Amino acid sequence: MCGHWPICPAADRSDREAARVVVSHPEQGWSKLCNGVIVFDDLGEILPDGSVVAPMVLTRPEALTRPAVLVGA
Ligand SMILES: [Zn+2]
Repeated sequence: MCGHWPICPAADRSDREAARVVVSHPEQGWSKLCNGVIVFDDLGEILPDGSVVAPMVLTRPEALTRPAVLVGA
């Protein structure tokens, strides 16, 4: 149960990554958010129900307005 204000977005919402980090392991490349979502450095996610959100794959990095890190480049 979230005790933050404003309340963190639920794991089934599109803005779920806006929840606060409650456990962080940067040395291992992941963080757990208040809503139970585990977020990896490559932006892949594991949701509380066990489903997986695939890592972000950049196909058109030139379309971004901020610098990006390309995996495998
Ligand atoms: Zn919260």
